[in-house]
Amino acid sequence: MWSSLSGRTVIVTGSSRGIGRGIALRFGAEGCQVLAVSRQRDDAEKVAAEITAAGGIAKAIAADVTRREDMQAMAQAARDAFGRIDILCANAGIFPAATLDTMTESDFDAVIDTNLKGTFLAVSACIADMKRQRSGRIILTSSITGPVTGFPGWSHYGASKAGQLGFMRTAAIELAPHGITVNAVLPGNIATEGLAGLGSDYVRKMEASVPMGRLGSVADIAHAALFFASDEAAYVTGQSLVVDGGQILPESLAALES
Ligand code: NAP
Repeated sequence: MWSSLSGRTVIVTGSSRGIGRGIALRFGAEGCQVLAVSRQRDDAEKVAAEITAAGGIAKAIAADVTRREDMQAMAQAARDAFGRIDILCANAGIFPAATLDTMTESDFDAVIDTNLKGTFLAVSACIADMKRQRSGRIILTSSITGPVTGFPGWSHYGASKAGQLGFMRTAAIELAPHGITVNAVLPGNIATEGLAGLGSDYVRKMEASVPMGRLGSVADIAHAALFFASDEAAYVTGQSLVVDGGQILPESLAALES
């Protein structure tokens, strides 16, 4: 029923661990040629090596999504290695917590720079290739936090993640005539190294707030990204897909307890 993605090329930012690693491994398993990207070269190379060891094709590059020249080097690395850029997963993100009474200007700037400006810079670096090919898929990793929900400590994060969706809607209109779609996955709480860093108490409370009773897996998010990359999703653009085990549904604690 589903067309194969085998042979497509995909860049995944923030793919040395967590959700990005899950996306990279899954696209690799589908036969895509994967460029793994993170600031730490060794970590990105380990993911590329995992894909290669499983019979896939992958390269790695160290690049910081907040730096325009790094994003241009990333796109060039994909051109050099694979000859084209079919799919961009703009996934790199950070989520340091700070409530408004403690948040500094540099806290705010760091989150917006990575999550929102980083999305813009990654997309900007890849669209000339996609336009020339008259096809391309851009998949953003946003969040339920910001677009749908709020959580104390994450006003800057929520703004960055909601901002990605505002960016997406206009980008989708601008790029549609060129055969390029732009969509976003909105994960709930996904079991990643980054999430584990928020502490076991946070993780336990989050599990209890999800109707399905578990955190999401990185594969849950990778499957949504695969859908947006598929030929079958060719007519879907500017849309967001919540993947959260029902986390945003309960209107109160009573809804979960009953
Ligand atoms: P993670 O485990 O902390 O991994 C983050 C990845 O991004 C790493 O590969 C990291 O590698 C890379 N990265 C961070 N800053 C970067 C930069 N400036 N340039 C390039 N790469 C950078 O995070 P995660 O939980 O997988 O989250 C991934 C994405 O999903 C983020 O956008 C996050 O907001 C979103 N998300 C996560 C959850 C969740 O529950 N986990 C929920 C909703 C949304 P380096 O440090 O080596 O650069």
